[in-house]
Amino acid sequence: MPKDVLVIGGGVSGIQASLDLADMGLKVHLVEKLPSIGGRMAQLDKTFPTNDCSICILAPKMADCFGHENINTLTFSEVREVSGREGDFKVRVVKKARGVDETLCTGCGECIEKCPVKVPDEFNMGLSERKAIYLYFLQAVPRIATIDRDNCLMITKGKCGICKKVCQRGAVDYDQKDKEITLQVGAIIVAVGFDPYDPRNTSQYGYGRCKNVITALEYERLICASGPTGGHLVRPSDHKEANKIGYVQCVGSRDVRKNPYCSSVCCMHSTKEAILAQEHNPGVECFVFYTDIRAPGKDFQRYIKRGMAEYGVIYIRGRVAEIIQDEDENPVILYENTETDKVEHMKLDLVVLATSLVPRHGINEFANLLGVDLDNFGFIKTDPFNTVITTREGIFACGYCQSPQDIPESVAQASGAAEKAAEICFR
Ligand SMILES: Cc1cc2nc3c(=O)[nH]c(=O)nc-3n(C[C@H](O)[C@H](O)[C@H](O)COP(=O)(O)OP(=O)(O)OC[C@H]3O[C@@H](n4cnc5c(N)ncnc54)[C@H](O)[C@@H]3O)c2cc1C
Ligand code: SF4
Ligand code: SF4
Repeated sequence: MPKDVLVIGGGVSGIQASLDLADMGLKVHLVEKLPSIGGRMAQLDKTFPTNDCSICILAPKMADCFGHENINTLTFSEVREVSGREGDFKVRVVKKARGVDETLCTGCGECIEKCPVKVPDEFNMGLSERKAIYLYFLQAVPRIATIDRDNCLMITKGKCGICKKVCQRGAVDYDQKDKEITLQVGAIIVAVGFDPYDPRNTSQYGYGRCKNVITALEYERLICASGPTGGHLVRPSDHKEANKIGYVQCVGSRDVRKNPYCSSVCCMHSTKEAILAQEHNPGVECFVFYTDIRAPGKDFQRYIKRGMAEYGVIYIRGRVAEIIQDEDENPVILYENTETDKVEHMKLDLVVLATSLVPRHGINEFANLLGVDLDNFGFIKTDPFNTVITTREGIFACGYCQSPQDIPESVAQASGAAEKAAEICFR
């Protein structure tokens, strides 16, 4: 009998690896720590260089993955222990209590509507609120409600119980306990992706101090039709339309004091975000403040040129020295224009920081648990000539957790990792 495979991380790369393996006839256990699969791609509005709707591409893949007879999708779950060796790993997984019975909940949302508690919505990067019982996002897969145990009044104070009363399926279960599952697998694929760098750690960019300075991931949610403003490009401070926007590159990246590496996708995503601003609000002025443009992919340079020629995006070469805000809460960028050799400043309505993308928080403990090494930057170390092979036999890596890369690269690498895992499991 072929052996099973464990895939850790249900972003686009984990989903692709799972689908490839499942289509080969192997049984896959896909472990995702959040209540839904989808990863960061689910948070994006459109994708460069085609400007296709991100969730429109991803949602069918998520549905195929969850519905595949060979894929056991374990959401809201974490790997706690890995023992054994290539061909014969034993893995302990904890499936956290959702407070909702997955076999009964239909995702109808009755409970969500009636819940009185509101907290910041992490999927929308805190730009909107969600309830204490919630769907992780509109197109979540699986479509099952989850109780946030830290904020539910019933769990923290023993009062409320509204969601249990209104759920006609009897799905709410406050006493549900975490469940331990033991898996026996031949190979493991790690696809845990990235976290955004916290720009508060580079204080000159004004994030947290200037109300209309946001991160690129926040902007992706803001401009998305299913996002917190219904896609209206407005400033957080006063909800006025943003008509002059600055996109600041390399925030925390290519900085020897922070993350010396290039995050690889930011020159492209900032161009995309400026193009999208024009599509939403023709006439908006967009300025990209860059170190140098890195657009090495297929059609990427043409995309930048299109941004300039068709959408009037203006690129200013110069690293930003400081961002302050004036008395009307307009961000003002101070920068050295390295093409004119002048120190200049510009007042804007909104500033978007292309923050560095960094290894997942807790990656050191996670790598120890798996028994794999990390590289100097904290990404999972792999063979330079076969970039899916980690330092432990039988464990492979793909996607952004292996090195900075965009969606097409992550998907291609996921298929490579799936091939390698399959070689072991069919042996
Ligand atoms: C602002 C912005 C815009 C972008 N725009 C584009 C674009 O237009 N086009 C493009 O090609 N790329 C774009 N990218 C890059 C793109 O987001 C990544 O290439 C892609 O998300 C990588 O996918 P991944 O599956 O490797 O990682 P992720 O999407 O990060 O998915 C990893 C998954 O693993 C889960 N996970 C993490 N830790 C664990 C754990 N311990 N156990 C279980 N599960 C875990 C996470 O919850 C997540 O679901 C953009 C990135 C940003 C920040
Ligand atoms: S818990 Fe019940 S009320 Fe809430 S979404 Fe699920 S089925 Fe609907
Ligand atoms: S019991 Fe908790 S989750 Fe349910 S409605 Fe009350 S506060 Fe919300």
